[in-house]
Amino acid sequence: TTSENQLNSTDTVDQDQDQDQEQDNSKPKTIAEVRKTLPVYQYRDELIQAINDHQVLIIVGETGSGKTTQLPQYLYESGYSSKGLQIACTQPRRVAATSVATRVAEEMGVKLGEEVGYSIRFDERSCESTKVKYMTDGMLLREFMTDPLVSKYSAIMIDEAHERTISSDVLLGLLKNVLKMRPDLRVLISSATMNAEKFSDFFGDVPIFNIPGRRFPVDIYYTKSPEANYIQAAISTVFQIHTTQPEGDILVFLTGQDEIESMQENLQETCNKLGDSISELMICPIYANLPPEQQQKIFDPTPKGSRKVVLATNIAETSITIDGIVFVIDPGMVKENVYSPQTGMESLVVTSCSKASVDQRAGRAGRVGPGKCFRLFTNWAYHHELKPNPTPEILRVNLASVVLLLLSLGVSDLLKFQFLDAPSKTGLMKAFELLYSLGALNGKGKLTTLGKTMSQFPLDPKLSKVLITSTSYNCTKEIITVIAMMGEASSLFYAPKEKKAQALSARESFNQGCDHLTFLDVYQKWEDAGFSKQWCSDYFVQYKSLQRAKINANVNFQSSRERISRTLISGLFTNISKLTSLGNYKSLKSQQTMSIHPSSVLSKVKPPPKVVLYNELVLTSKEFMRGVIEIQESWVYEVVPFYFTQAEKEEFEKNKGKVKLGRK
Ligand code: ADP
Ligand code: MG
Repeated sequence: TTSENQLNSTDTVDQDQDQDQEQDNSKPKTIAEVRKTLPVYQYRDELIQAINDHQVLIIVGETGSGKTTQLPQYLYESGYSSKGLQIACTQPRRVAATSVATRVAEEMGVKLGEEVGYSIRFDERSCESTKVKYMTDGMLLREFMTDPLVSKYSAIMIDEAHERTISSDVLLGLLKNVLKMRPDLRVLISSATMNAEKFSDFFGDVPIFNIPGRRFPVDIYYTKSPEANYIQAAISTVFQIHTTQPEGDILVFLTGQDEIESMQENLQETCNKLGDSISELMICPIYANLPPEQQQKIFDPTPKGSRKVVLATNIAETSITIDGIVFVIDPGMVKENVYSPQTGMESLVVTSCSKASVDQRAGRAGRVGPGKCFRLFTNWAYHHELKPNPTPEILRVNLASVVLLLLSLGVSDLLKFQFLDAPSKTGLMKAFELLYSLGALNGKGKLTTLGKTMSQFPLDPKLSKVLITSTSYNCTKEIITVIAMMGEASSLFYAPKEKKAQALSARESFNQGCDHLTFLDVYQKWEDAGFSKQWCSDYFVQYKSLQRAKINANVNFQSSRERISRTLISGLFTNISKLTSLGNYKSLKSQQTMSIHPSSVLSKVKPPPKVVLYNELVLTSKEFMRGVIEIQESWVYEVVPFYFTQAEKEEFEKNKGKVKLGRK
């Protein structure tokens, strides 16, 4: 049985227990006291000194030692955000960026979105007075497009660099070039224990600052034979721990939202059946699409007498630390994007983790005291089947997006670009071929206008092309929906056992003779039903999938809006005006004042848009703008630079950091 399988201890890791770190848990600590208990705190002054002395510093420390939450605060406290400059800290995942920003705002006693903020695509919680900004690595990468010297930052921390996402790898390459031109800029690269030397070498032998961690021993248990169904095995392990082990919370590593949801449901059902015969189990899921207030729930303290079970994706491996975890259940799997340059196909597959990852996961059980890790695979597999380290994303994905991005950033010789791990020549060639065939590159390998536009979408270049082409066929809105729905194809419909026939006939009612239009039909009918949840259960369609599609459609819609705005600017650049403190508008280049025509949909929007472009001015009781669209001032400078004098451009650059444009 599983129970015999799992209590077969064969290995112990992390014996370096630090005796003088024993904690007195008898009374609750204030948030300021908690900050001082973090391992990084003892090194605060030394760290600040090292950062002052070195332009680039690698920081290595055990997960939970306080790198992410504390280092940006130390920089802030020692004056790095003076002169209107900001401190940025990048994260590979959206959830980590928002969750950490929330925590740091609380620690600093400020409102999220003010001194401490975050920036993830189409969700901006920062303002002109923001000093510490957590953002996704992809977001900072996009800022390079408009500000190649990242001039609004005094310090940039590339966090979780060991994860080797494509965006953070590319950021490291770009930053390496910026360093010479920005001697004042500080770059911190923080990483879990793996890979530190590699980062140091990359930047020319820069110092590595080690933060000794606090770690307790973790006993590792393996299964005797491979598990056919690791979710089922994880569920029985949860109950086994819950009924036989002393107090302490459980962390389960799963590969994605679908697994988490199905395990959550299953655990809940079993709990309901068992009723009062077992003590309470608090089930807390955490994954990227979970609404932020529910994400925060995993940090709620566990009530006495009950036990928390956190069902997490890879995010809990290093990016998020949950206190109180004593037991880790690890199936040893991860969902990865894998691309084959031979076939040109890209797919998301569930595959075995690396040894480094499973060791990292096990370590999560030893933060508060000695812990246990239940691996749902065999000891033999650990020693013979797992690869030593995760493969960097850049070596396994389709490079078309990266190539397009780098070209749009002005990096023309990709073979000379310094990558931490250079992608294969074949991979690069394939990417060039694809971009050329999409029309994004010309015969000389230079970016075309179409290619430039394509780079502005947060989409695979093939889909960007589809979206752009849709404008010529007058079906942009439909295509945007189809693209968003295709992303949900696998999880869209469901058919419960007891209502199978009903569910299938509901599904049939959307049938348009092809899948793309069927998806479109589902979405449109849902839209007609006011995006209702009830409608979804009536038609056996997953509400959550549709919600995600709606968000994605919106993202593309907004990108499409940016593209349309830029196109309008290219011809109508003389028709741009800015909101004044009096509430009316003034032309960008002349003294002419004007207002938005009452017929415009923007006339009643609160707060009013800060910068707008209009089609025409009509004079009735006063000058009115008709045909109005909100734009960002920086777009004007980018699209029609010739329209401005050098002095005007400099003036704009100077003020840029101070004024936040656009509404949320
Ligand atoms: P590191 O980056 O070195 O892994 P962190 O700075 O993320 O460490 O974490 C330091 C401490 O802050 C941990 O003990 C963690 O539990 C706590 N913490 C981090 N985020 C939150 C949060 N959102 N809510 C409560 N505690 C948090
Ligand atoms: Mg961290």
